[in-house]
Order: sequence, then C-alpha cells, then structure tokens
Amino acid sequence: MTLTYLIISLIAGSVGSVALAGLLLALNNQKLLIISNYLMYLAGGTLLGAALLGMIPKAILQADVKTVLQWVLIGILFFFILEKIILWRSCGNQECERKTHAAAPLILIGDAFHNAIDGIVIAASFLTSIEMGVFVTISVMLHEIPQELGDFGILISSGLKKKTAFWANIFSGSTALVFGIAAYYTLESIKWLIPYALAFSAASFLYIALADLIPEMHRKTKIKDTLIQIILIIIGVSIIYLMTINH
Ligand SMILES: [Zn+2]
Repeated sequence: MTLTYLIISLIAGSVGSVALAGLLLALNNQKLLIISNYLMYLAGGTLLGAALLGMIPKAILQADVKTVLQWVLIGILFFFILEKIILWRSCGNQECERKTHAAAPLILIGDAFHNAIDGIVIAASFLTSIEMGVFVTISVMLHEIPQELGDFGILISSGLKKKTAFWANIFSGSTALVFGIAAYYTLESIKWLIPYALAFSAASFLYIALADLIPEMHRKTKIKDTLIQIILIIIGVSIIYLMTINH
C-alpha cells in the first residue's frame, strides 16, 4: 500500500510538476510569472516547516540527536559542494550565475541529480509515515513547479524548441522515480538508515529554502512584494505545522 502511495507521489513530485509547469507556460506570461513566484514563496515556508517540524524531529525520535544533527550538517555541506560542481562545470573559472549562463545539458544534468535526491527524500518520508510522505511531496511540488518553469525559460532561450524542452525536462524528472523506488527497497531492508536518510533529506530542504529560494526572494525589495513573501512563507509553515500537529 505504501509503495502505491509512494509511486503516485513520485510521479506527482517529478513528472507531474514538469507537466504543471508546462501548463503554466501555456498561460500568458504576466500571470505565469506571478503564480510561479507565489509558489516559490509558499515553498520557502513548506520546505523549512517540513525539515524542522517534520523530518528532523522524527529522525531524533529514532536515533541519537547528535548523530542526526551531524547528518544534517554533512547534508548541507554536500549540497553546497554539489551546487558548486554544477556551477563550475558550466562556467569554468569565471564569475557567473546558474540562471543566466548555465548551458542546456548542464541544467538537465543538475536537475536529474536534484530530482533523484527529491525521489530519495519522498521515499524516506513515506517509510516514516504516510502523513510525512504527503507533506514532503507537497513541499517538493511547490518548489519544483517554479524551478521547472525557470528551467523551461533557460532551455528555450538556449535554442531548444518548446516540445523538446518539455520532454527533456520530463526525462530529467524521471530520475526521481528510479531513485525513489530504489531508495524505498534499500531503506526497507536497512531500516536503521531511515533516520539518517531523513536528516540528510532535511538538509536538502533547508539548503533549497535558505540558499536558493530566499536569496531569490531578496531580489524584490518593494514593501508589497515583501509583505506577500512574509505572508506566503508563514502560510507555508502553517500548512506543515497543521499537518504535523497530531504527529
Ligand atoms: Zn526539488
């Protein structure tokens, strides 16, 4: 039963997010940009909430606090280095930003890696409980849709046709399914690994929220944008809080 939920969630979190992003792409650009930004703000809250209210407390119940937090730390350093390698491969030894300079193949490889990790995160959560699986999947979808939209933009501006960009994104998203199912069977047979997998997964969420989404939010400085950001982050955290309250 858990496996069925897991597969549905993996599809929703990866290929489903790409499909929804594709759908948003069909809307007019102004609306698209607004919706994509709002989802990103919400994701900032749900990712922080999922990590700090759901995954880390759950890991601490199952394993030694110190070891769990060490895995969170290792995870954060790992994701920093991973992102650096992706940037470095695309830019070489010069100043540049992923958003503007990374070439299409690199975006897709980076995404494939990222989606594989999202798949593992979803699997580790479902092995902990169905509820955690559900709110982790929601957190993945909320940050994946704006991410995929951004990727579409880069792929199309680097010369790919819309259709090619769509299928390339679907393909790089499918790593979530492969790695998620592999992680499910691995963690199912090596149960003591689950709390550490959760801690590592929480690090991925913290990193995305604090190092990717929040710096992006700080590009907007108007009071109206700031208020919308604060409100949506709080709504995001509250959604997770309500889902974890009876946990
Ligand atoms: Zn993701």
